Amino acid sequence: EKFKEGLTKTRDQFTSKVNDLVARFREVDEEFFEELEDLLLQADVGFETVMELIDELKLEVQRKNIKNTEGIQSVISQKLVEIYKAGEESNGELNLQEEGLSVILMVGVNGVGKTTTIGKLASRFKAEGKSVMLAAGDTFRAGAIDQLVVWGERTGVEVIRQSEGSDPAAVMYDAIRAAKNRNVDILICDTAGRLQNKVNLMNELEKVHRVIDREVPGAPHEVLLALDATTGQNALVQAQTFQEATNVSGIVLTKLDGTAKGGIVLAIKNKLNIPVKFVGLGEGVDDLQPFDPEKYVYGLFA
Ligand code: GDP
Repeated sequence: EKFKEGLTKTRDQFTSKVNDLVARFREVDEEFFEELEDLLLQADVGFETVMELIDELKLEVQRKNIKNTEGIQSVISQKLVEIYKAGEESNGELNLQEEGLSVILMVGVNGVGKTTTIGKLASRFKAEGKSVMLAAGDTFRAGAIDQLVVWGERTGVEVIRQSEGSDPAAVMYDAIRAAKNRNVDILICDTAGRLQNKVNLMNELEKVHRVIDREVPGAPHEVLLALDATTGQNALVQAQTFQEATNVSGIVLTKLDGTAKGGIVLAIKNKLNIPVKFVGLGEGVDDLQPFDPEKYVYGLFA
């Protein structure tokens, strides 16, 4: 239900246009595919993915000897899911420890919804009965620490912090010590999100990564990159930069409720081959859903 609600914009535009198209065209012909292609491109599915999808659809139509457009939506949905899942190694679940401390590193550009996502994750883990702690590793942006503290209060989770301008790696070190002392299950670490200075960003992330791994061998267990779905293809460029800076293990696609271009999920998966692990469907603490390609695609056409 959350999925359906959060995807209202994409459904209102993309899905209803596909439905109109299907109603307008009785027969599945070249012109139908051309218009479908346009709609998919408008939804930010991405050029290569659209081409692949259209080719697959044409094959399927031939194979099944489909002549008219009635019910073609289910063939489209099925192919969308198949394309999303192609080459998939991960089932989209978080790779956390059964025992002992798990560390999640959150990365992403300022404004994409990183802090909000940390708050939502904390609340989610707590609801699962896990103990959670936050590390205020964005010591660069004014107000970032306070903002995280607000989320800590809201979710009843302790935030380990130092003053603005201090070394993020030192914050991580403190936080891991504290987390171990208090037998915390999951430590979520915020990081700075300035992309203007790529070299600094890389150095900082590398150092933070190293400290975490030294204190908890094998950690961070997840490096989650927050991307803003409303920024479309720009999100892809950001993802590539972060991929160069650190080992991104999963994506949290935020603000999916705020865009009609929900196809960006497919573009991200196909271009980067990093699984989308969660999607943000609103500003509230409960508006974070594990990403499930079936629910997503079938939710669009249901
Ligand atoms: P940060 O700078 O990356 O930490 O970004 P914030 O967490 O401060 O979020 C920036 C803005 O985006 C805030 O107004 C959030 O309420 C909003 N936001 C975050 N996630 C979502 C989402 O999934 N949906 C919507 N509609 N807004 C979101």
